[in-house]
Amino acid sequence: MKVRVGFIGLGAMGFPMAVNMAEAGHDVLGMDIDEAVMQRFMETGGKAALSVAEIVAHSDVVVTMLPAGDHVKACVAELIGAGYSSKLLVDFSTIGVEAARDVHELCARHGIRVLDAPVTGGVMGAEKGSLTVMVGGSHDDFQAAKPVLEAVGASITYAGGPGCGQAVKVCNNMAAGIIKIAVCEAFALAERLGVDKKVLFDVASHGSANCFALTTTCPVPGLVPTAPSSHGYKGGFATRLMLKDMKLAQSAAAAYGVPVALGSAATSLYEHCTQAGLGDLDNSIIFKVVNGDFSYQSNK
Ligand code: NAD
Repeated sequence: MKVRVGFIGLGAMGFPMAVNMAEAGHDVLGMDIDEAVMQRFMETGGKAALSVAEIVAHSDVVVTMLPAGDHVKACVAELIGAGYSSKLLVDFSTIGVEAARDVHELCARHGIRVLDAPVTGGVMGAEKGSLTVMVGGSHDDFQAAKPVLEAVGASITYAGGPGCGQAVKVCNNMAAGIIKIAVCEAFALAERLGVDKKVLFDVASHGSANCFALTTTCPVPGLVPTAPSSHGYKGGFATRLMLKDMKLAQSAAAAYGVPVALGSAATSLYEHCTQAGLGDLDNSIIFKVVNGDFSYQSNK
């Protein structure tokens, strides 16, 4: 089914997602506040809107892929101001649970049907159309949005009511962030104890420490050829984005009174890593901090 889509936010993730939606047959009108981004979008054959009003006039479904909650709330306010109503809004941005629930409430007051639909899979997943999408909102709206979701995602899960997509995303990423550091600590300790990194890798990957952070995104260079660590920590999932997600999990945990001691400690380490100027590198770079290659002063 061909859908008229208004796509707001054509950055590292949004641009390839918009391209994939157009390639899937949808009628996509794109918009970004960055003129250079808009230029690039038009040069690759994208149809560009110059205002939110144009997006509203064109779209049966508006999708957003924006940096953070404040950007999404401001954008929703603009959509409301331009008369968007009775139609679907799918927010793919990672904005955390509280902001998503605020957006759901705001949209409900103005008759907009909304889904929070954060993604994992990074820029590579966005380019391949193989993102994992976690969706919160009404199940009927989830069904209605399927043609649009399927154009960008290979794994699409209905997570529950408003905010549940964001909840799944922050819980998953908090666990992934903690596990990555656990793997780093094991390798740092093994090295000091005189154990070859390959020996620990072989034993752990067939034993109880086996996990994605070990066998797919191993933080120690030279053990997994395709891991970012084996390519100067380039590509992968940027440390600054991991820090953003860890902080969103911390904020949700504080709001709901859940003690997340390991999540808190891990957040401090990613913060240090980012402050040390490593934020654009893959989050596996945390190995360098854990291994003592960069100084770490705990403030606890
Ligand atoms: P990005 O900064 O590359 O893109 C965001 C785009 O939004 C920019 O082009 C910016 O100009 C535009 N923008 C900001 N405010 C706007 C507005 N009011 N109207 C129109 N355009 C506006 O960021 P990204 O890496 O594409 O990430 C987008 C979202 O996806 C974030 O929430 C991020 O946490 C999440 N995410 C990113 C990745 C990743 O690997 N990059 C992975 C998963 C999820």
